Order: sequence, then C-alpha cells, then structure tokens
Amino acid sequence: MSNEGQQPVRNNFFDTKIEFLKGVGSQKAALLNLELSIFNYGDLIQHYPFRHEDRTIFYQIKDLNEQLPAAQIKGRLREWSVVGEGTKKRLVAHFTDGSGILELVWFQGITWIEKNLRPNTEYIVYGKPVAFGGRWSITHPEIELMTAENAHGGYWQPVYSLTEKLRRRYIDSKVLSKIIRNLLEISRAHIHETLPDNLVQKYRMISKADAVWNFHIPQSHAWLHQAQRRLKFEELFYNQFRLLKNKLLHKTEFPGMVFNSTTLVKEFYEHHLPFKLTNSQVKVLHEIHEDLKKGKQMNRLLHGDVGSGKTIVAFITMLFALSNGAQACLMAPTEILADQHYQGLKKFADSLGVHIGKLTGSTKKKDRDILHQELRDGSMQIIVGTHALIEDVVQFQNLGLCIIDEQHRFGVAQRSRLWAKNDRISPHILVMTATPIPRTLAMTLYGDLDISAITELPAGRKPIKTVHRFDANRLSVFGFLRDEIAKGRQIYMVYPLIEESEKMDLKDLMDGFESVSRSFPDVPISILHGKMKPKDKDFEMARFVKGETKIMVATTVIEVGVNVPNASVMVIENAERFGLSQLHQLRGRVGRGAEQSYCILMTDYKISKDTRLRIDTLCRTNDGFEIAEVDLQLRGPGDITGTQQSGLMDLLVANLAQDGEILKVARSSAEAILETDPDLLNPENFPIRSHLSNIRKEETNWSRIG
Ligand code: ADP
Ligand code: MG
Repeated sequence: MSNEGQQPVRNNFFDTKIEFLKGVGSQKAALLNLELSIFNYGDLIQHYPFRHEDRTIFYQIKDLNEQLPAAQIKGRLREWSVVGEGTKKRLVAHFTDGSGILELVWFQGITWIEKNLRPNTEYIVYGKPVAFGGRWSITHPEIELMTAENAHGGYWQPVYSLTEKLRRRYIDSKVLSKIIRNLLEISRAHIHETLPDNLVQKYRMISKADAVWNFHIPQSHAWLHQAQRRLKFEELFYNQFRLLKNKLLHKTEFPGMVFNSTTLVKEFYEHHLPFKLTNSQVKVLHEIHEDLKKGKQMNRLLHGDVGSGKTIVAFITMLFALSNGAQACLMAPTEILADQHYQGLKKFADSLGVHIGKLTGSTKKKDRDILHQELRDGSMQIIVGTHALIEDVVQFQNLGLCIIDEQHRFGVAQRSRLWAKNDRISPHILVMTATPIPRTLAMTLYGDLDISAITELPAGRKPIKTVHRFDANRLSVFGFLRDEIAKGRQIYMVYPLIEESEKMDLKDLMDGFESVSRSFPDVPISILHGKMKPKDKDFEMARFVKGETKIMVATTVIEVGVNVPNASVMVIENAERFGLSQLHQLRGRVGRGAEQSYCILMTDYKISKDTRLRIDTLCRTNDGFEIAEVDLQLRGPGDITGTQQSGLMDLLVANLAQDGEILKVARSSAEAILETDPDLLNPENFPIRSHLSNIRKEETNWSRIG
C-alpha cells in the first residue's frame, strides 16, 4: 500500500506507537491495530473521516422540516414507554425543547436504553427528523447528556469508518475524534510542508498542518473544503509526479533495441494486407514505429474500443521486431482470448511464412517442451499465450517485444516479469486495452505509459442499434430474431453467470437454452459456458464461427475478443445484472460486419434507478468513453479497474470519479516541475525531494509488514 503524499514528514515522531498517546492505552491500541490497521501516530493521523455531521447549530422543534438530512436539538425528556408487539415493539420517548414535541423511537437495545434514560435532564439529540401524522420523530437518534463541551454546538462532528467490533467496545466516532484531537495537539511542530511554496501560493492552498487539522476538526465548512482540496491535490500531485518521473526515467535511462529494418513490414504491406488500414491505425503504427527506432524502451498503451482493429496493429508491431531478428510475444488474460488472437495472427503469419505458436495452461507437456525449445533457439518467432508465458521455464533467445492484451486484468508485477525475459536489454512493451478508460483513470493507472488511441472504426461499419425490451415482450423479440436468421444472420443470447450463484445461473442458462430450442425447433443452436471442457467449447465455438449453428446461447465467456462478423444480433438476458462496461463489451461482439447490428437488452418490468441509467446510456450511445465516464460515476474507480493491486490506485483522500479537475492541475504542475528541474536541485523544490524520500521509507516499512 502506498499512501501517496499523505503522510506528514516522518521523523520518528509519527512512528510512535499509538499506545503512548493520551486516551489510548494498550487495550484500545490492540483493537485499533487489529480492526483498522492503525499502529502508529502516522496511521492514526491519516485515518481521515469520510464525512462530517453538522453540529454547528441547534434547531427548534417547531422549525424542523422534512428536507433536513439531520438536525441537532437541545431539550428534556418528558415520559417514555415501550409500545407494540413483536417486530413492532419499540421504546418511544417524548422530548421537548419548549417549542414542540419530538418523539424519539428505538427498536433495538430497548432495555439498556430505557434503563439509562433520565427525566428532567438536559440532552442533545441528533438524527433525521420525519413527520408522522403531524408529529415529528427521530428513529434511533444519537442522544447524549448536555456538557460544557457540546452545549454550544458550533462544531462539525467527524464520522470515521469503524468496525462493528470497535462499536461494541464503545469506540465510536466521538471517541476516536477525541483521541485524534489529542494527537493533533502534540503534532503541530512535526507536520512539515510537503509542497513547494510557489504551488501553495499559486493555487491558494492552505498549509499542510492546517489541512490535516481541519480535515479532522474543521473550524467551518469552508475550512473543511479547503482542507480536502489541499490534501487531494497533494496526493494526486505525488501520484502523478512519481508516474511521470518513472516515465522520464524509462525514456532517458532504459535502453531499447533499435528496430531499423522493416523488411517484413514492407512485404506484408505490399502483398498481404487484407484491408486498407484506417487513418487511426496508420497514425498509431507511426507512433509505435517512432518509439521502436529511438533506442529507448517503448512503454506504450494502445487504446481502442472493441472492433477498432487492434489485432492487425499488434501484428505489424510484431513484424518490426521480427524484421530485426527479435522475437515477439502476446499475452492475453484467458485461454479463449489467447486462442482468438492466435487464430487471427496465424492467418497473417502464415502468409509471410512466420513461425507462430501458442502456449497456455492446457498445452500438453510434449508440445510445451517443443515450444520451450523453439523459443530458446529462436526458431519460434511469435508466441501467443496466457500467463503461462511468464513462468520461469519460458526462456527466449531474443525477446524484443511484449504485447499485453487487456492489461487491467494483469497486475503490474506480472507486467514486469515479462520485461525480465531478456536480461541483455528490456523488450519493448505495448499494452492493449479494449476497455475505454476515463481520462482520470488512465492518468493514474497508466500515467507512466505513452498513450496511443485508435479513435475510428473500420469503414462501412454501421453503428449498433440498441434497444430495451421487457421480458413480457419476448414473443415479439423472438419474431425479430426469426426474421434476422432468415436473412442469414447469427445471434448471441447471453445469460449472466456470476460466481456466487453459479448453480442457479447455470440453471437459468439451461432453461433459456430449452426455451430457445422450443421456440426455434428448426434452427441449429450452440451452447457455451465456462463449465464445459475446453474441447467441447472449441467444438461449439467452431460450429458457430462456421455458421453451422445460428444461435449461440452463452454466458459471458464470449465477453472479450470473440470475433464472428456474421453475428449481428446480441440479446442480453437479465441485463440488470451486468455492469455498464460489461454490457458495452458484450455488445461489442456484434457490429463487426457490414450488416446492421442490434443489441437487445432484456429486463424485468421492475428495475432500479441505476439499472435504468445503465440501460438508457447504452441505448443512447456507442461511445465507449462516454459510457466509461457514466460507469465511473456509478461504480467508483476501484470496481472499474478491478485492480486494487496496482498500488498507485490506493488513493486515501482523492476520488477519481470526482476529482478530475484537481488531478489535471496536479499533473500539469508535476509536469512543469519535471521539465524545469527534474533532479529537484532548485531549493524551492526541496520539500518535494524530502517528501519523496519519506514516501519511499514508508513503502519499505510497509513491504516489510506485508
Ligand atoms: P479489436 O480492436 O476489438 O481487437 P479486431 O482487431 O478484432 O478488433 O478487429 C475487428 C474486426 O475488424 C476484425 O474482423 C478485423 O479483421 C476487422 N478490421 C480491422 N481493421 C480493419 C480495417 N482497417 N478495415 C476493415 N476491417 C478491419
Ligand atoms: Mg481484440
């Protein structure tokens, strides 16, 4: 875990164990260690609240309104009693501030609460007021005795993430905030500025010390906002600074093979090119070729929506390597994908007499031994495979290029293991992704890579028409499918398969298959799911590819890469159970030929607001980037990338879904500094230097723990 930019400068102070802090002690410390991984002062001070409750003012009961998310009220308890039976059983207390009556209601912990309530004593209650039959009430309010500290309001109560166990031991946000206040009080002298003064000035940021203090205990809402802005900026600045610094290092320090000769590329272009490349493909190849001539290691991301034609770009890139006596490999995340790539590339390779092979987990020992040998002696020029490629037994004679497809499914660590397969000189790296990534995510996930994007689809493609249909309209949908089949088209019908409920899903799939078979008795149908033997999968897939079967009933195993241009209709059953990006990926399986393609999203009548938004977005647009932005808003960054492991994504305070603007400014600030003072020799930039070395120390500590 790397908490970019967040830890205050560490002298030993922030390494102090929390048990030495006033108000903690060994028992609480043990709990905080165990439950929240808070070990030392540094961990504690960075345990920032995720929201703040407005305890600035007291409301009068007569002024309450339904719009209030919550209200704080000062008053006394009149009387209380337990009413109702069974699940309706509750404790109801009448609370008054002289302006009206408020009912406080508890369904849980009744006995304990009742025992502790005191009449005619001043209390402060807090919660969401709701009007019921002309009377205001708060269910499960927070209630505390009035004290000298809370009597005047005027503060924002931080709310911290906690665990059930901590709450049971009476460590709640109030307790934690008291402890953190104790820490803040002794920390001031130890929190050093981490950003250069000119940046702080330019963007009118508050100091680091003020920011840390006000994030926990804001003086006002405005201060809270400034504190968050400042800490987000710092976090994103260091995140970008380090990525950009890495990129710079690669460019200046890492030598790369020089691929000057283009013999095979020329031959392919002149005699075997199966179609005219799009302008976008040409542009991207040009960028790649520039990298390959420079004598520096290429680290490039190739970004292109489904169907944009990345495969041929990958192949031509490989030809640059081959023309210069180097080998190339392509790694895909699944066997099916590896196989698709292999089939696609083999056609091109055969036309040139290039030797290409495939290595996956299911390659037989005998074949594997031959492959290993051919890779070692250099006779195997291109190898396509899964992560089986990164095993240590796989050695190359002269690996010059690694292409990684669908990178986000591989960890950064796996990426670098491929790099190491040539110990003389690092191979060039091309990462391909079909998942459109919002700009903010690309900057943090791939900030150390150069980016090329294929932005247009091959000519003649008609945009896919996407519609939403309810299950009740199945008959008319089937009628439409029958017409399309009569026109010679093929159809995908996709069912969700989610691991936790695998059995049930498989039954859904089988039921679906039955019902489709009944409705289309004269149509040959294939079925494909992850539980089938690879041999059977291949058989079914091959039948569909050849057009022998007209409908493919399948789970999401067809999600990525599968390419059957004649399949022009995609029906997605239970569409509400898929994520937005996944639906977009699935849809990308059609629209690959010249015919008009369709995507039909089937759902029940009742769907949630989020589902509605997902479906409307898909019906409205085919633009992967627009879809990715909506997805980011809906799901947040972690879920989209599927990578917690990337390290660089561990942002503590910034949220990539919301902080795109801050990220842009942070990145350009980092760029400007690296441009003018890459080695941080200017005294103005010393804070960066010392903070970076602190981050590094911190990471070493972490790696020792983890
Ligand atoms: P993806 O980017 O999703 O990997 P593919 O490389 O599989 O896309 O290409 C999708 C389809 O488009 C394939 O059938 C491929 O042969 C075809 N294709 C790629 N580039 C072109 C082009 N310039 N003109 C016509 N068809 C193309
Ligand atoms: Mg592809």
